[in-house]
Amino acid sequence: MRQRFSADHYTNGIRAGDRLVLSRAITLVESRRTDDQSLAQQVLESVLPNPDNAPSQSVRIGITGVPGVGKSTFIEAFGTYLTGLGHRLAVLAIDPTSQRSGGSLLGDKTRMETLSMNPHAYIRPTPAGDSLGGVGHRTRETILLCEAAGFDVILVETVGVGQSETVVHGMVDFFLLLMLAGAGDELQGMKRGIMELADALVITKADGENVAPANRARVEYQNALHLFPPTGTGWFPPVLTGSALTGNGVDTIWQTIQEHQQLTSQNGYRAQRRQEQQLTWFRSLVRQQLESRFYDQPGMRDRLALVETQIRAGTLLPGLAVQKLFNQPN
Ligand code: GDP
Repeated sequence: MRQRFSADHYTNGIRAGDRLVLSRAITLVESRRTDDQSLAQQVLESVLPNPDNAPSQSVRIGITGVPGVGKSTFIEAFGTYLTGLGHRLAVLAIDPTSQRSGGSLLGDKTRMETLSMNPHAYIRPTPAGDSLGGVGHRTRETILLCEAAGFDVILVETVGVGQSETVVHGMVDFFLLLMLAGAGDELQGMKRGIMELADALVITKADGENVAPANRARVEYQNALHLFPPTGTGWFPPVLTGSALTGNGVDTIWQTIQEHQQLTSQNGYRAQRRQEQQLTWFRSLVRQQLESRFYDQPGMRDRLALVETQIRAGTLLPGLAVQKLFNQPN
């Protein structure tokens, strides 16, 4: 059986920035076992600092874009730049290996190779089997653990599949949308809704022959964004260009994020966004708890199967079926 540490061991290790302990703590919070869950809550509570210090200093950044847009290459370049400035960076990354095989915990070793050897960076792949476009069911807790371990920039990567963007947007301070020049919105699977969530757009691969198309795309998207209703935060999402290959634009992207942080810290929106995120998190946990209490009742699987057969046969109406399931003791 996998060895578990004591709550104190986890807490002290995390506070000391011990990566092995941090990784084990993340595995613990991801576990669905009841005993793991209660230990995980204990650890989370003990590493949670008071709201006036560390985590309020961190920057949580969501990064999204369709496969091939250049997310992992960008994170390599951006992350290396940030650690060069003295930041400590945690990347909660998509694990494409597990997406294909449904199994690997190690992730695709070819992704973010340089960053994974950087002592100031920590990469945690999210097994896709347990996630929605790269967002794990415990990504929020993982962010808190990484912050407690001293990482001050947290990148949460998600693949542009729709629903996952909304989820990640609900846990970060800044949401970055990467886009390709000349690929067309349809091809990029980008719904208007995702663009509306973005705090900045970056046209990737702006190097070589792609510089001119990237600049054209930048103007087009900037014009498109002007048509969106104002965010009400005083922030107007800019469209930038960047190349992970040459490093061009990487500094501007970081500068933009900092300007956003500064503005939203001053006008109170950042704190408000985090408060609302906490409430959304709480409400989704309540929903999950209600669901599992309902589905985990003894005999519920059989009763559901029976009721669904009756609904299919047209002998029972869904509304009545729900009443029966909720009102009848087993
Ligand atoms: P992801 O699927 O979004 O993580 O995309 P990747 O980071 O794996 O990049 C997809 C492909 O685009 C790879 O072949 C990269 O080498 C290439 N690529 C990524 N960034 C750049 C860039 O800035 N410039 C150029 N020319 N190619 C890039």
